[in-house]
Amino acid sequence: MNSEKITVGVIGVQGDVSEHIAAISHLRSLDDEAIDAVSIRKTGIIPNCNFLIIPGGESTTISRLIKRNGLANEIISHAQSGKPLLATCAGLIVASKSANDKRIDTLDILDITVNRNAFGRQIDSFEAHLPIKGMDTPFPAIFIRAPAIETTSKNVEILAEYKGRPVAVRQDNIVGTSFHPELTFDTRLHNLAFFES
Ligand code: GLN
Repeated sequence: MNSEKITVGVIGVQGDVSEHIAAISHLRSLDDEAIDAVSIRKTGIIPNCNFLIIPGGESTTISRLIKRNGLANEIISHAQSGKPLLATCAGLIVASKSANDKRIDTLDILDITVNRNAFGRQIDSFEAHLPIKGMDTPFPAIFIRAPAIETTSKNVEILAEYKGRPVAVRQDNIVGTSFHPELTFDTRLHNLAFFES
């Protein structure tokens, strides 16, 4: 039995950071190791994290702040090292190759292009019972001004679609969702991202 603690870092410059930290407190690793969550606003912490989350929020703000405070390069190194990373909503936009928006300097760690706020203004927020690859029952997916994934390259696996557009994907160690798994009590997506890749 491994008694080492697992540390999950949540990029904490803006967005629904505390919601992810609360969701992590409900997680259990396979060996029942302790899992700790930390909000990250400065460099030097990410290298010690086992898992990383880029949360939902406002992608223009997150992208600007992580560039300015040096976190962007550490996130890229984490992703390239093969350690698990979960990117949700605005986080998915920041992780993508292109968001078709000059204000967002994307990290290009997830080989997809996205379209911000793609599901229309009148349905800014909605919940869908979404079938997800590998899950027995649909996932309660909450969409808030959600991006759509427009293109995916061959190395990207589509895990779920909504109205014919991909909304959950996996590329090796990186899982990205257009919706907010941290806003439900359902931890299956965090588990999938961290323990099943
Ligand atoms: N529409 C937001 C953006 O483009 C994302 C919304 C969210 O994270 N809930 O940054």
